[in-house]
Amino acid sequence: MPHGAKFARMVRGRFAPSPTGALHLGNARTALLAWLHARAHGGAFVMRVEDLDVGRVRPGIMQTQLDELRWLGLDWDEGPDVGGPCAPYVQSRRQALYDAALRRLAEDGRLFQCTCSRRDIAQAASAPHAGEEGPRYPGTCRARLVDPSVPSLLAHGRAHFALRVRVEAGDVCFSDGVMGDCCFDPAAETGDFVVRRKDGAAAYQLAVVVDDAAMRMTHVVRGADLLSSTARQILLCRALALPVPEFVHVPLMLGPDGERLAKRHGAVSLGELREAGVPPERVAGWLAATCGLAQPGEAVAPAGVVARFHGARLSTAPTTVTQAGLARRRGGGAGG
Ligand code: GLU
Repeated sequence: MPHGAKFARMVRGRFAPSPTGALHLGNARTALLAWLHARAHGGAFVMRVEDLDVGRVRPGIMQTQLDELRWLGLDWDEGPDVGGPCAPYVQSRRQALYDAALRRLAEDGRLFQCTCSRRDIAQAASAPHAGEEGPRYPGTCRARLVDPSVPSLLAHGRAHFALRVRVEAGDVCFSDGVMGDCCFDPAAETGDFVVRRKDGAAAYQLAVVVDDAAMRMTHVVRGADLLSSTARQILLCRALALPVPEFVHVPLMLGPDGERLAKRHGAVSLGELREAGVPPERVAGWLAATCGLAQPGEAVAPAGVVARFHGARLSTAPTTVTQAGLARRRGGGAGG
């Protein structure tokens, strides 16, 4: 059976952790929701490890993350430890696919070499705004188009330049499964963006698009922090003639200061809860309760929530975890 036919019309979802640190409750809730979405639709669930940021990847973390997600009660049909038709499921082993996509962008005259440092960009930007992704790229190296017939320009490995893709002005609109109708103008917000970094690794935006297409993802369920990246990813899908998946951006969990939940908030990791002897059903139940999918204090395995997920409306608002709530999680207690 051809690859495409096998996956025809079946919902395929994924969770794509970066093995850079312990999974905390916020990550776990996103994983749970992505899993519930796939399972409630009778779909397949894929685990993909996004380990391209070599400077931040920590040895051994991938296995720990997978163990903890299993402990929580999630399972996957395809992934680094179970294999599958789209293997390998670890990005650092998928370089050939990213190289092919870069070549295609170069052949279409969309790719250019950029030698700018972060500082150059900050200084050249006329109206730098301190967004999470830094100031908009001012177009300094835009004219230095990559000639695909010069092998050194696309050769893998460290280089003194990054590769950026040209972005034309205009809104990119999509209908998000939770956030509703969204429009972003990447040309105004980030400008031409990096698709291969100076260290030779494919940038997140490129790798995620190539992999979601190659792995036949029909739905991308992930944290709302990636909502604005979606517009850039849609532009790449169009440029590479790849299908655009449905997007479902689930609200983040915030710490008491209103920032994304992180270790510095004392955010509890799944590993800490497991070691403290908290039953996984309590953790899954609490996560589900924060999305209105379980009663406060209810202990329930993810499999017990699948039927409730169908048709449930997820709030678009982030969940703020209070200091007291975090302390209770550490103690393994119930309630908010
Ligand atoms: N690897 C990304 C992260 O851990 C997720 C990317 C995605 O789901 O598209 O934040």
